[in-house]
Amino acid sequence: MTTETFDSRSIIVAGGGIGGLAAALALSNKGFTVTVLEQAREFGELGAGIQLGPNAFHALDRLGVGQEARSRAVFVDHLIMMDGPSGEKIAEIPVNEPFRQRFGNPYAVIHRADVHGVLLEGCRKSPHISLATSKRVVAYERVPGGVKVITADGEHLLAGALIGADGLRSRVREQVVGDGGPKSSGHICFRAVLPIDQMPEDLRWNAATLWAGPGTHLVHYPLRGWKEFNIVATFQGEPAAIGPQGLPGDRDELLFRFRHLSAKPRKILETAPSWKRWVLGDRDPVENWTDGVVTLLGDAAHPMHQYFAQGACMALEDAVCLGDKVAASDGDFAAAFPAYQLLRVVRTARVQLSAREIGRHLYHASGVHAEVRTAVLRAKTPEQFYDSLDWIYGGPEEYRKK
Ligand SMILES: Cc1cc2nc3c(=O)[nH]c(=O)nc-3n(C[C@H](O)[C@H](O)[C@H](O)COP(=O)(O)OP(=O)(O)OC[C@H]3O[C@@H](n4cnc5c(N)ncnc54)[C@H](O)[C@@H]3O)c2cc1C
Repeated sequence: MTTETFDSRSIIVAGGGIGGLAAALALSNKGFTVTVLEQAREFGELGAGIQLGPNAFHALDRLGVGQEARSRAVFVDHLIMMDGPSGEKIAEIPVNEPFRQRFGNPYAVIHRADVHGVLLEGCRKSPHISLATSKRVVAYERVPGGVKVITADGEHLLAGALIGADGLRSRVREQVVGDGGPKSSGHICFRAVLPIDQMPEDLRWNAATLWAGPGTHLVHYPLRGWKEFNIVATFQGEPAAIGPQGLPGDRDELLFRFRHLSAKPRKILETAPSWKRWVLGDRDPVENWTDGVVTLLGDAAHPMHQYFAQGACMALEDAVCLGDKVAASDGDFAAAFPAYQLLRVVRTARVQLSAREIGRHLYHASGVHAEVRTAVLRAKTPEQFYDSLDWIYGGPEEYRKK
């Protein structure tokens, strides 16, 4: 690529996270030439575990890496919700064979590095994808027939289109949407990974387990062939600046925030030797995230709280949809991007808004609100849970596995 001439069918992707790599793969599978610009010195993922609903596997299959991802995942038997203060079970959703039959794919937990790794390997194998690190995108300019992408080190790169997959604090979004920085609602999460022998024995469940409590919830599940457990403890604190993420977290603060938690799950918090801290950010959904031949994808387009465990799943779905629309328009990006956006805005906004609601009404409820929650969820059958989750796990109508 030079600053003088360029291939008007080439695409630059800003950001090499799960969303950016998935987009590169989707587009290269359709024969387009893609350059991924990642700001970090190496491609990688912060944090440990991630849950993948069946809809993520529909997308990974469409990207051609579904089997690889399955081979590195742990397939849990249940999604369990416990009452943190009393230690009693609230609900258990089986995600066994009937669930898989219904949704056409399993529910799994996987190390982030593994799902990112299968996408990276897929990109590295593609002759159409170039991967560049230490390239921070700072701005773009629309030019006749394409876009000029400007990096922090002063490079000007020309391409037919730009996809901003640069996450929660997207620079590309600053120009396309211009809605300022992400908002902090005061939700903070602490993450840790426990080797299996340090996980309390009576909690080594083959489940994605969530302990709900007033203003808090604790999640754990096994990872990497049962060698580790992923732990995520979230609490509602005071709105805080979203600075650098993944810095060391103060264990005493965590224990104080979870002081209502019953002894069994509390042992996990006491056992973990160190924690990393994230200030969670999200944004209100927007109707438009496209500017001509520039569009957004993943957290850059629709960041959300992780309470539905769907942020990465949505990024994977975005990528498949984007690839399909670009191919259908034969590389007419200005036509393809609004068509992609049209299919994605309502679905992703629904997840963004619903994630906030389940945080407030289900996970963090207290007093009589918590009692109502427990009564409602206890009365549900697995089929009723499946019906209420169908809109997410079945995937978008147009990509359901036939
Ligand atoms: C605690 C927690 C738990 C979660 N659990 C789940 C879960 O169980 N299931 C699930 O589906 N989702 C989950 N998520 C959400 C998921 O992590 C995100 O939605 C997903 O990682 C978004 O991917 P992305 O590629 O869009 O953005 P990111 O992962 O943020 O990647 C953006 C990439 O762009 C790079 N970048 C940033 N700015 C620039 C720039 N200017 N130029 C070039 N590169 C740039 C970054 O370095 C990064 O590599 C969770 C999130 C959190 C915080």
